[in-house]
Amino acid sequence: MAEDFKVTPWEVSGDIDYDVLMQRFGTTPIDDALMKRLGKYGELHPMLRRGIFYSHRDLGKLLDEYDKGNKFFLYTGRGPSGHTHLGHIMPWIFNKWMQDVFKVDMLFQMTDDEKFLFKDLTLKETRSLAYENALDFVALGFDPKKTKIILDTENIKELYPIALKVSKKVTFSTAKAVFGFDNSTNIGAIFFTTIQAAPAFLPSERKGKQVPCLIPCGIDQDPHFRVARDAAPGLNYPKPAMLYCKMFPGLGGGDKMSSSDELGTIYTTDNPKDVKKKVGRAFTGGCVSIEEQRQKGGNPEVCAVFKYNYYLFEKDDKKMNELAEKCKKGEILCGECKQMLTQKINVFLEEHQAKREKAKDVVDSMTFDGFKW
Ligand code: SF4
Repeated sequence: MAEDFKVTPWEVSGDIDYDVLMQRFGTTPIDDALMKRLGKYGELHPMLRRGIFYSHRDLGKLLDEYDKGNKFFLYTGRGPSGHTHLGHIMPWIFNKWMQDVFKVDMLFQMTDDEKFLFKDLTLKETRSLAYENALDFVALGFDPKKTKIILDTENIKELYPIALKVSKKVTFSTAKAVFGFDNSTNIGAIFFTTIQAAPAFLPSERKGKQVPCLIPCGIDQDPHFRVARDAAPGLNYPKPAMLYCKMFPGLGGGDKMSSSDELGTIYTTDNPKDVKKKVGRAFTGGCVSIEEQRQKGGNPEVCAVFKYNYYLFEKDDKKMNELAEKCKKGEILCGECKQMLTQKINVFLEEHQAKREKAKDVVDSMTFDGFKW
């Protein structure tokens, strides 16, 4: 059933209908005209071409400003509740592309406070996880001169005055309606959204003028930024523009890769044996027997292996179409397909893990206001 799913910043469940979700949240689809316009700045990223980044708020206005010479900055982040998996780095890879194409600054917020408030984790644990996650972020090659990593508990002095201003514009009634809080919610959690809003306004605050902001992130984060956008005009801050992606699927066939499903989740630190095992168990659109699959073919639309190629591991559209055709005609079997994906993931992880090691030398130089981990 189309309505039978839930997407909040803290919970994603059910089969997501992304069109229904867009209507529910009131975001705008990226139409052909906007896609064409984006293509003028650089060759479109596959995540745009393929509709993985599919929805936005005020992206056209942001580009108008950019064309007039009013550069935006990028802001995205991570709630450090566990080790980094492929679902986390997918939107970061896109952010890196945006930085390269538009040559803009990037603020990356680590919400260690949020995960302390919402999860059964100590502040020491969320900080240590933030460091681990930051290595993955840095490993993707963001421009060290244009990128700063915020850790909420370290940079709170800068964030707090902005969060306070935002908090004065948000009633408890709004927070309850947007996030579903009730009387059992801890009061830190109720305040938290203002801290997540703060980096969107930080350059405006520092420079004393409106600095446009673009936030490319998962659509599950929209509730936070709806609140931030509503508060912005009353504070003389620009409303942040949003660019939303779909959730990276789990290997088990679910709509979102989740750390609660260890075997359906590929971490950036997994070794080739782990990857082989996990991909080997992936949910596919194949048939129960080889004979049947040769005869009837498979169904790539429901297949996690196919989706992995589509989202991250096969950039060539022609090759994707060929794979879909071969699958549907029974010309390729799931075993072979899984083997190819395993290899692609392992090649990616080997390179990523080497860069992740090197990131340890530079991560300190990329912290906001120079804090040390
Ligand atoms: Fe998926 Fe490949 Fe099997 Fe088709 S052949 S269902 S794409 S794993």
